[in-house]
Amino acid sequence: MEIFYNSGKTFLPKIDTIFLQARGLAIVILFGWLALGITPSLNFPLALGITGALAVHYLALMFLIRRPQFRFNKFYFITLVLDTVATTFWVIFSGGYDSVFFLGYYLIVALAAYLLTRPAVATITAIISLVYVAILWPQLNSLDNWLTVALRISPCWIFFAVISHIAEHLQRSEVRMLKLFDTLNMRTTELEKIQAQLESIYDNSRILAGILDVDEVIKAVVQIVNGVLKYPAAAILFKRSESGFIYRGRVIDGEINLRLKSLDGASTDLLERVARAGTPVCIVDSKGRDDYAPLKEDTRSVMLAPMTVRRKTVGVLVAESKSVGAFSERDEKMFWVVARSAAMAIDNAIVHSEMESLTVTDELTGIYNYRFFAERLAEEQRRAARYNQPLALIMIDIDHFKNFNDSFGHEAGNLALKGVSNIISGCIRDTDVFARYGGEEFAIILPQTALSEAEEIANRIRESIESTKIDIGNGIAKQGITVSVGVTSYPENGKRHDELVQLADQALYRAKGGGRNAVQVV
Ligand code: GH3
Ligand code: MG
Ligand code: MG
Repeated sequence: MEIFYNSGKTFLPKIDTIFLQARGLAIVILFGWLALGITPSLNFPLALGITGALAVHYLALMFLIRRPQFRFNKFYFITLVLDTVATTFWVIFSGGYDSVFFLGYYLIVALAAYLLTRPAVATITAIISLVYVAILWPQLNSLDNWLTVALRISPCWIFFAVISHIAEHLQRSEVRMLKLFDTLNMRTTELEKIQAQLESIYDNSRILAGILDVDEVIKAVVQIVNGVLKYPAAAILFKRSESGFIYRGRVIDGEINLRLKSLDGASTDLLERVARAGTPVCIVDSKGRDDYAPLKEDTRSVMLAPMTVRRKTVGVLVAESKSVGAFSERDEKMFWVVARSAAMAIDNAIVHSEMESLTVTDELTGIYNYRFFAERLAEEQRRAARYNQPLALIMIDIDHFKNFNDSFGHEAGNLALKGVSNIISGCIRDTDVFARYGGEEFAIILPQTALSEAEEIANRIRESIESTKIDIGNGIAKQGITVSVGVTSYPENGKRHDELVQLADQALYRAKGGGRNAVQVV
């Protein structure tokens, strides 16, 4: 028989304070009774012993109850046994039938009904009833007496019924409540996990938006899917301009691969469907499906989200799992958010690289860049040919610039490059095209300019640079930076534009070979 209710975790009072106080009061009254000698028939030492035991037990209970690890059940048992023995003793020695100490039994039953299971309380109430009848047996000689005893016993059974009922109800409510708390706890933990995940995605999305290189964006997206969402296999597929899809980035068991990979004739039906619908799709069990080619052989569930930017689906983000039904509705929503920010970041990076390809100036010096120079040289050469006019090309390279950097630092080198380009700008005409050819090399296209004139300009440039104090930072104005220059012209020396570059470069090489700080003409 189970005696105690499950006394694991509980928020009900471990022992009702009312019972404790009632017992305390009862013990004090007993001592009072003893001290006043109200009952002469009492076996005084025995009564004092029993009451003393009750008092010691009571004080111990008051002390121990504060400890968190206190085992209540054992103590309850001792309490009930002790109380039953003490009450019976007091009833016997204070007049039996005439004694009012039977009231103590009510306290015992009430306490038991609060603490113990129904069968246990029924047993105790029955024992008390029998004990009471047994000790009064010699005095039960009339119906009147029998009725009185029955009347005295009946509150025990009423306490048993009422308090047991209330206690049981409380216990059941408590169990339900604890279950509710558990569920609440679980939900809170889950929510906290989601929140952390969302924060992580938000942070990563913000980082994504700042990346300007497409490859880096792809890598970051794949890392979010793999690292934050913890999907072992995932891929970014781009929609091809003609038709179909191509893998742009993949991650399989933590290994990232950014090489393009075609789907090799595998079915793209599911990808097409997701791209067309513009909404994510979750496949609970992908086994046996022929509309999707998984990244991994043991894949059982798949989640696909369209990568949409400016209402256009540019690709599909895919995650796979080897367990059936691995993705929840929440996962799907989160995945879609990632897919959208990925699409936006990729678009951003593409736009940036397109913009970059449109720039024509060099960031450091502000003059034209190599790309623009190459286009303009071809164009100017065609124009010169059409109008039958000369065209000159000057190439300039700073001497011992590596040493300069080594001595003054890279920052000073940058300032020197700016200074040199400013000096050159001041030596040429507005119609000339001045560009940074490479690191410390410059090139000038001089339309309608003959070789001799170009040579003059080149010399002017060389002299100017050598004689000008150039600000290289930290309050230093450096004089004596020199350049070597190569000059060539169309049509005298070269006919094609690439030929002109080659010739100017060769002339420059000769100027270097001849000791630098010189101009050489082809
Ligand atoms: P040479 O007289 O033969 O031309 O010697 P050099 O040291 O100038 O030639 P080299 O080609 O060996 O080295 C060129 C140096 O120019 C190396 C590199 O550190 C420096 N350089 C190239 N671009 C930049 C730049 O943007 N800023 C700075 N500070 N240095 C640059
Ligand atoms: Mg060089
Ligand atoms: Mg150089």
